[in-house]
Amino acid sequence: MLHINAERLLAGLDTLAKIGATSDGGVERLAMSEADMAGRRWFKQRVKEAGLEFHADGAGNLSAVLRCSKPDAKTFLAGSHLDTVPNGGRYDGALGVLAALEALRTIREAGLDLPVHLEAISFTDEEGSVLYLFGSRSLIGELQPEQFQNSRGGERGVLDGMQRLGLSIEGMLGARRDTQSLAGYVELHIEQGARLEEAGTNIGIVTSIVGISDFWLTFTGKANHAGTTPMDRRADALWGASAFVQQASQLVQTEFSPGVMNVGEISAKPGAFNIVPAEVKLSFEFRHGTPEALAQMQDQLLALAEKIAAAYGLGLKIEPAGGYAPALMDERVMAAFEASADDLGLTHTRLLSFAGHDAESLSHVVPSGMIFVPSVAGISHSPREFTHSHDIVHGANVLLNTIVELATKLD
Ligand SMILES: [Zn+2]
Repeated sequence: MLHINAERLLAGLDTLAKIGATSDGGVERLAMSEADMAGRRWFKQRVKEAGLEFHADGAGNLSAVLRCSKPDAKTFLAGSHLDTVPNGGRYDGALGVLAALEALRTIREAGLDLPVHLEAISFTDEEGSVLYLFGSRSLIGELQPEQFQNSRGGERGVLDGMQRLGLSIEGMLGARRDTQSLAGYVELHIEQGARLEEAGTNIGIVTSIVGISDFWLTFTGKANHAGTTPMDRRADALWGASAFVQQASQLVQTEFSPGVMNVGEISAKPGAFNIVPAEVKLSFEFRHGTPEALAQMQDQLLALAEKIAAAYGLGLKIEPAGGYAPALMDERVMAAFEASADDLGLTHTRLLSFAGHDAESLSHVVPSGMIFVPSVAGISHSPREFTHSHDIVHGANVLLNTIVELATKLD
C-alpha cells in the first residue's frame, strides 16, 4: 500500500483556499474570473514543484502528467475542478484536483513505472458559472459552439470568458481527446450530503450520477365566480395540481427511495382572489440513478397525474422539458475503490450522486468512477463547507491505491 504525504496535501489545500478567499472563511473562484486565473497560476507552479509535466489544453483544462516508459501507452486520468460557486467553500473541487496531484507525486517518488501515463486534471468551469462542464465536455468532444447560447453566461459571457483565459473556439474543439488513448477516469469529491457522516462510513462509492427528467404539467378546469359557484360544481385546476404534488411526493418516498421529485414553479390563471383557477402549470422534475428507475418513475408519476386530473374532472397536458440520462460508473472502477478501501481498513458504501460532476462527462467515453468523503452536516456550496483532515487523507489514499490498481487493469 502506498500512502500520500498528508501534510503536503493539507498544506496545499490551505494555500489554495487563500486564493479567492472571502471574509467569512469561504472561497470564491468563479470560472474564468481573475481569482480563477490566480488559482490556475498557482496550480501550474505546484505541478512544476512536484516534478511533473504541466499541460494546458484548448479548453483551459490544466494537467500534471507523469509519463510511463511506454510512449504509446494509454493515459489514466484523475481530477476534478478548481473553480467554485459564488461564496463557495474550500473543498468542493479543490480536494479532487489536489488529491490527484498528490497521488501522482507519491507514485513518482515511489519510483513506480506503471503501464499507463498518469494525468491529474483540473477541468474548466465544472460549476457552470459560464457554461456547465465546459472543460470535461470539451475533452470528450460533446461541446459545440452552438451550445454557448444555452449557457448561464450566454454566448457573449462564454466568448468573453474564453478570451480572458486566452482560449479560442478552434482550441476548444481541439481539446477533444481520442478516447482510444484514455484508460479511465477517477475523481475524489466531498459528499455534499450527510449520508456518510450520519452512518459513520469513511468512503462513499458512487454507482451513478443521477439522471434528471423535466416536464411541464398543465391542469385545466373552468374559470368561474369564486363566490357564486357551489363547491361541488367546480372544476378547479389548482385542486388537481395540489393533490398531484402531495401524492407524487408520497409515491416517490414509498416506491422510489432514494429518488427525488420537485415542483419548483407554479402559475395559476386567470390568477385572482375571486376566480376559480382555470389553468395551473407546474414545473415537474424527478431524479434517479438508473435509466430503468427513471423510466419507471416517469410511467407511474405521469399515470398518477392523469388519474388525479380525471378524478377532479380536469384536462391535463404533459410536455417534456428535457433532462439528462443517468451517468453510470464502471463496475471495475467501483470494485477497485472497494478493494483499496478494504486494504486501508476503511469502511465504505455504495451510493448515488445527486449532484453533477465532471465524472458524468468522462463516464460517457471511458471507464469512470467517483468516491465521496464525508461533509460535516452535509453542507456544501457554502463557506461552512468542512471535511475533517483524516477524511481528506483517507479519500486521497483510496484514490492513490485505486489509480495504481487500475493502471494495470485498464491499460
Ligand atoms: Zn464539485
